[in-house]
Amino acid sequence: MNTDFTTSRLTGWGRTSPSTASVAQVSRDNVAGLLKDPYRRGVLMRGLGRSYGDAAQNAGGVVLSLEGSAEETVLDAATGTLTAGAGASLHDLLKVIVPQGFFVPVTPGTRFVTVGGAIASDIHGKNHHVEGSFGNHVRQLTLMLADGTVHEIGPDQNPTLFWATVGGMGLTGVILEATFSLIPIETSLCTVNTIRCRNIDVLIDEMSHGDDDHRYSVAWADLLATGSRLGRSVLWRGDHTKLAELSSKEAADALKYEPKHLATVPPLIPSFGFVNKMSSTLFNELWFRKEPRRKNGGHKSIPAYFHPLDAIGSWNRVYGNGGFLQYQFALPFGREDELRQIVERIAVSKTASPLVVLKRFGDANPAPLSFPMPGWTLTVDIPTRAEGLGQLLHSLDEVVMQSGGRHYLAKDAHTTPTAIRRGYPRLDEWKQIQRSVDPGQLWQSDLARRLELI
Ligand SMILES: Cc1cc2nc3c(=O)[nH]c(=O)nc-3n(C[C@H](O)[C@H](O)[C@H](O)COP(=O)(O)OP(=O)(O)OC[C@H]3O[C@@H](n4cnc5c(N)ncnc54)[C@H](O)[C@@H]3O)c2cc1C
Repeated sequence: MNTDFTTSRLTGWGRTSPSTASVAQVSRDNVAGLLKDPYRRGVLMRGLGRSYGDAAQNAGGVVLSLEGSAEETVLDAATGTLTAGAGASLHDLLKVIVPQGFFVPVTPGTRFVTVGGAIASDIHGKNHHVEGSFGNHVRQLTLMLADGTVHEIGPDQNPTLFWATVGGMGLTGVILEATFSLIPIETSLCTVNTIRCRNIDVLIDEMSHGDDDHRYSVAWADLLATGSRLGRSVLWRGDHTKLAELSSKEAADALKYEPKHLATVPPLIPSFGFVNKMSSTLFNELWFRKEPRRKNGGHKSIPAYFHPLDAIGSWNRVYGNGGFLQYQFALPFGREDELRQIVERIAVSKTASPLVVLKRFGDANPAPLSFPMPGWTLTVDIPTRAEGLGQLLHSLDEVVMQSGGRHYLAKDAHTTPTAIRRGYPRLDEWKQIQRSVDPGQLWQSDLARRLELI
């Protein structure tokens, strides 16, 4: 069957560093045929393009997306596992599994990611401190190598290739399908405890002592506040609500799942966007004040607790033409002073938008390029037009490197090969495995070239 290629300009979610590639949507049955052609600039798989930087781009080369739907998924309720095509999105899967009493093992802050993208980035969620990242829950996956051969791999079946593929940013092959375990749920609600913390020290203390009592934990921080209010924040810790916690009326429809779409940001907005120091300061003040000082036990729906930003389509346009980048790093436990130092540098620079998240990670998994490590992770969205941004980020990179931390490949748009080599000490081990399955360097990406991953 002939595949229709179009020449398209692609970006990541941050809308920076566009590049042009030959793009096509393919079914799993015709991928192998396409790999036979010699592509000078290589091939890359792309999911829903929700990585922020250039991870899903391949300038001058080929970019393929797998057709995906939830129709071909197989839910095995007895074992609590789901088998899904790699092109299926968590959005589609949740519509099928929540009403049947299951939740995905890990979800990022958006449900518009594919199974392939979730594995290739080894995504983490609010439950990392308890349950690890997506790869920890994959029982088996089907991988097509550069030579077109198809392999079933998993933690007990060719574990070396499996763990190189988890977090391997699409550079070991095409993930065609995966079987992963699910979380059984009694209701589609989360019971959430809210705490307002007056500064970063109070937040760190609160998370260090209370996170382990809850399955989910995430904090928003105001990275424009300084002085005694440095890193003032709101912490939301949650658990899936038990049926017994609901009234009989609520219990009658306990697994209702209806994510709402409220609006879409139009394509034409002022080139400088809507996010600036004034609007962000105002937003942060209101956001902090609207939360109770301490509240135990409110109920939130799955979309409200896990995916609040998804209610607004194309919200990434609010940053204007230049787009934005998300700076995300992890620092090991014991490096709280350095975390505070980074928070202070960002706060003093007055560059951060209101989208700032702090999480506490649990144990790492065996994947050489998996991002999470036991410690802290901070994500900060910053408009690219912010003054002095390059200088600021390079100074933060130094702190991250010197503290034994690392940057998240799925979010990165700016860092250097040196920072990646320092942050991922097993990079050479991963490169060896990668080369053994792709000696002709078929798999390519802008990210891989920029950060010298292959
Ligand atoms: C609002 C928002 C919130 C987010 N929150 C989080 C979060 O909390 N935690 C987190 O970890 N991440 C988070 N992310 C990032 C996101 O989860 C990852 O970037 C994820 O990989 C995106 O999936 P995708 O399907 O869009 O993949 P893409 O962005 O299209 O691709 C990502 C990588 O996966 C590879 N890939 C995709 N499909 C395949 C395949 N079939 N076979 C092989 N490789 C493949 C690509 O080559 C690329 O390297 C967030 C993103 C957004 C926009």
